[in-house]
This record gives sequence, C-alpha cells and structure tokens, in this order.
Amino acid sequence: MSRARATRRERLVVVSNRVARGGNAARAGGLAVALLDVLKRSGGLWAGWSGNVQDGALGKPRMSAQGDLSFATLDLSQAEYEEYYNGFANRTLWPLFHYRIDLTNFDRDHYQGYLRVNQRFAHAVAPLLGDDDLVWVHDYHLIAFGEELRRMGVHHTLGFFLHIPFPAPEVITTLPVHEVLVRALFAYDLIGFQTESDLRSFTDYVTSEAGGRVLEDGRLEAYGRVVRAGVYPIGVDAENIRRFARSRDAHTHGARMERVLAGRLAIIGVDRLDYSKGLPERFRAFDALLRRYPENRGRISFLQIAPPSRTDVPEYKDIRQELEGLSGSINGEHSEFDWTPLRYITRGFSRQALAGLYRIARIGLVTPLRDGMNLVAKEYVAAQSGHNPGVLVLSRFAGAAHRADGALIVNPYDIQGVADAMQKALVMPLDERRERWRALRDEVMTNDVNAWRDAFLAVLREVDARRPR
Ligand code: ADP
Repeated sequence: MSRARATRRERLVVVSNRVARGGNAARAGGLAVALLDVLKRSGGLWAGWSGNVQDGALGKPRMSAQGDLSFATLDLSQAEYEEYYNGFANRTLWPLFHYRIDLTNFDRDHYQGYLRVNQRFAHAVAPLLGDDDLVWVHDYHLIAFGEELRRMGVHHTLGFFLHIPFPAPEVITTLPVHEVLVRALFAYDLIGFQTESDLRSFTDYVTSEAGGRVLEDGRLEAYGRVVRAGVYPIGVDAENIRRFARSRDAHTHGARMERVLAGRLAIIGVDRLDYSKGLPERFRAFDALLRRYPENRGRISFLQIAPPSRTDVPEYKDIRQELEGLSGSINGEHSEFDWTPLRYITRGFSRQALAGLYRIARIGLVTPLRDGMNLVAKEYVAAQSGHNPGVLVLSRFAGAAHRADGALIVNPYDIQGVADAMQKALVMPLDERRERWRALRDEVMTNDVNAWRDAFLAVLREVDARRPR
C-alpha cells in the first residue's frame, strides 16, 4: 500500500446552492434540512451561498465551523441573485424540471449569470480541496459547477445528486440550452436521481438526443465521457423525527391543536408555498370532500401550513393570491359560527412543533403535481404513533410514491378522486390504518437520510478507488 493510501483520511465536501447553519435549515427547504442531517453526522465541509445578497466586493468565501463541520459561504451580488437564483434556477430550471413548460421563462442573460455563478463557486471551492476529499454537489443550481472544476484541472472524484425530477426528453428539449446542460452533467463521475423514472428520462435523453449509449456495466457514455448514474431516493432523519414527535414542543402544539379541534379529525398539509405542490387542487379537493360527503361538515378540520418562498419570483406571488382567494371562498361557503373548516397558515414552525401537529392529524395530505421526493410525506409517517396512526394520502407524482405501499395513492389532477381517498382515510378502521402505517414506517425508518448518504457515498468511493493518484 502506498504511503498516500495508508495515511488517507477522507473528508466529505458538500456543495449546494444554499448553506444553512442550524436553525435556518427548515426555512431553506428540504434539501438544506437533509444536508444538515447528513453533515451533522459525518462532519466535513459545506460550501455554497450564504443566503446574503450584497453589492460590495464579493471576494473569498467566509469560513466558519461548528464542531466537525466547516462552512465556506459566499454572498451573491444583486445581479447574480436576479440572474442565477431568481432567474435561471427558479424561473427556468425549476418549472421546466417540474413539467411546467407553461411557467418556464428562458432568458439568455439569466443563463449567462447562472454559468458565471457556477464558475465563481468553482473557483472559490477548488483551493479548499484536499487530495482525499470526496466532492458531492447538489441540485439544479449547480449543474455546471463540476465542468468548471474540470476546466480548472481538478481531478477529484465528483458526485452530483439531482433532488428534483429529471424531465422526459420531450420536455427538457424545449430548453434552448438543454444540450450544454446535459453535457455539463457528464463532467461528474456519478449522478444520482431520486427515482427510476428520473433515471429513465435521463437515459432516454442520452440515447435519443445525445447520441450516447448504455454500456454493458450500466454506465452511460456520451460526449466522449463515461458516467455512472443511479437511483438513490432521499430519506428523512426518521429517528430524530420520532424523537421530535415526543418532545415538549410537539406536545404543546399537539395539545393546543387538539383543544381547537374539540374532537374533530384533523387533516394536515405542510409545504413550501410553491406551484409544484398542487395546493389549489388540494383546496378544491377539500371543498369536494365537504360537498360529496356532507357528514364531514363540522367534524373535520384541514390545517394547511405553507410558508412563502422565492417571493421575488412573480409566479410565487400569483399562487399566493390564488390560495388566499380559494381559502376565503371555501371558508365563506362552508363555515359555521363554531366551525372553521380550513386553516391556512403561512408561517414556519420548528421541526418539533411540526412533528407534534403531524402526530395528531388523521390524514397527511401530500398532493404535489410533481415533486422530486417530498420529505413531508416521510416526516408525517415518522411522526405517527403506532397506537393510532394517521393515513398518508400521497400523489403518484411525488418521488416518495415509488416506495409507499401503505399510502393511499392519488392523482392530484383528479379532484373528486382525492376527495374520495380522503373519505376512505377518514373512515378507515384502526387495524387497516396500523397495517398501512407499519409498511410505510418500515420503509421510512430503513431508507432514512443516513442510508441515502451511505448508498450514494459507497458508490462514489468505489469510483474514487479506481481514480489514478
Ligand atoms: P421542498 O424541498 O420542495 O421544499 P420537501 O417536502 O422535500 O419540499 O421538503 C420541505 C422541508 O421543509 C421539510 O423538511 C419540511 O418539514 C420543511 N418545512 C416545510 N414547511 C415548513 C414550515 N412551515 N415550518 C418548518 N418547516 C417546514
């Protein structure tokens, strides 16, 4: 064994758009929550945007540390924030990859800004890399990051994980720069997707659009490069969520909610306010439930928590307005002086408080029109009590539905179908609820966030072991 190998000490370097330290992870969304869970255990370096926008000199990354975990954070300029973050990432790639061609806005300046930020991040991270670092890049904001590192002569093994769906070739090819982006993905050594259908779409693109092929060992070849691509469904820190659900904060929130419910059954939805989450359709399905099954009037209560996100992007203002209108008209139509059917709240909650609310809800309503995975579905399952578990009503278009045998799987476009599934959940006997929940729990506990990290990193290490040193 060479001396270099003998003294080798691997460090995990995670690069993602948003770096979230401690308490602000939940606000930064599912990805930040998951990465913080991963890094808290393994230690390493987390590099990316600080969340700050400023107009002065941008300079070098700001370094800080919490225990074994170091952070390298960069600010964005106002122009970068507009072009890279609000522009190409959130008005082009996000809607397109969620199959919303109608909301996709392509602007060449935004695209150039996106490339510049990827370049700047690569130049900031490259000098921080040690010889034995494993580099794991996350999500659609940083597709071009790996290629920039390669241009700079970085030979490290590079992994990439796409947290959102990879769309079918017919959809992604509507993007004028689709080829440049997919080619950039080939700078990585390993590409991870959430579901088999994402991997299939990517493979279809490679073979039908890029003139590439699938090699005998399953790797993909195109643009003169070979990559491994695989399915690594992300999980939640299920053990921790179970603990959260039994915490004092959880009890307080659960008890407060139960007082308000006064014996009624609760339905809960928790989402970032985003058009991909199917919220208007969900509200309409709740309305349909009250109309189709009037015996529920006065006996159920729907709590939808949806904190606004990406508020500088116009499409997010539109969805907010639409929901305010819908919740007002549903409550106006159905409320009694002593019963408010729908509570729509736009503030954030601690993870403990959320777990307490999940635990008392008879239905976890997770009905995105398209979602890479959806962590809320898994959090809801992890937070239930085995004595009296609730029922997960889950969209077939969430990545989570690929391994969710115990859920009631729905098509969120079928408003009456979703209402029927809710009714089925409301009257479901305890034995069936328990049986379904146990199946879901086994999946969520086994394939948790640590299993996800270990599965991806095991393959990345295998690739790394073959790297010439
Ligand atoms: P996305 O990544 O699209 O936001 P996910 O469902 O995968 O969707 O992840 C959302 C994450 O954000 C979950 O961990 C969820 O608990 C958290 N979250 C969503 N809404 C709130 C809220 N109001 N307060 C606290 N955390 C929230």
